Amino acid sequence: MTGGNRGIGAACARALAARGDQVAVASRSGEGVDGLLGVTCDVNDAASVDAAFREVEAELGPVEVLVSNAGVVRDTLLLTMSEDAFSSVIDTNLTGAYRVAKRAAKGMLRLRRGRLVFVSSVVGLTGSAGQANYAASKAGLIGLARSLARELSSRAITANVVAPGPVDTDMLRALTEAQRSAAVAQVPLGRLAHVDEVAAAVAFLSSEAASYITGAVLPVDGGLGMGH
Ligand code: NDP
Repeated sequence: MTGGNRGIGAACARALAARGDQVAVASRSGEGVDGLLGVTCDVNDAASVDAAFREVEAELGPVEVLVSNAGVVRDTLLLTMSEDAFSSVIDTNLTGAYRVAKRAAKGMLRLRRGRLVFVSSVVGLTGSAGQANYAASKAGLIGLARSLARELSSRAITANVVAPGPVDTDMLRALTEAQRSAAVAQVPLGRLAHVDEVAAAVAFLSSEAASYITGAVLPVDGGLGMGH
């Protein structure tokens, strides 16, 4: 579970632990949640990713489920978006997902089973003014997951995407009250998602019950992205 120490990632970690999985939560700080194993992992750095996997494999055994959830925003309009703001968001959100998926797939190919779940966003489908970098990274996750779904299917490894709408976490709390209200106003269900509502979708896609689902994009967005 990358980005597992807070927000959506922590909720996913708790949901998977509650069903009996042994869960490791990875973040730059390395802090754990609720007694779960915490490991230091910066998804921007392949060596850090490899070290984190080694630690998890040594402590808990081979990784059967990867939830690629780490993500950042650096919002601004196109003409004020620096190349660093664009490429750093792509590096964490998209290239970071490639790094962890590649490392996870190694072990899953040996096991001949596995679940890859990528946390994207509704804006990867709809676009979002002021978020060209973020939306591009989240759209890229869909191409990544669908390619891996095709590449890894012969070994019973599935790759799916969850696309949340606005969720009540630190990421959204960084917005102004007016920006949050504007986001909620566009959601047919008329509220933010709770982290557990996203975690339920991740838990399903990473379960045995989802064994015939691969390459899917599951919206958890209160209807915001309908039609996309
Ligand atoms: P938070 O900002 O609450 O948490 C982000 C997580 O990502 C933290 O655990 C953080 O850990 C981790 N992270 C960031 N950069 C790195 C890195 N380089 N290496 C490892 N971990 C990193 O965000 P949310 O819980 O809201 O978001 C989780 C995911 O859900 C993200 O991918 C986000 O884009 C997506 N999402 C969120 C929505 C929302 O409205 N909140 C809507 C749609 C999608 P630390 O900083 O401690 O290293």
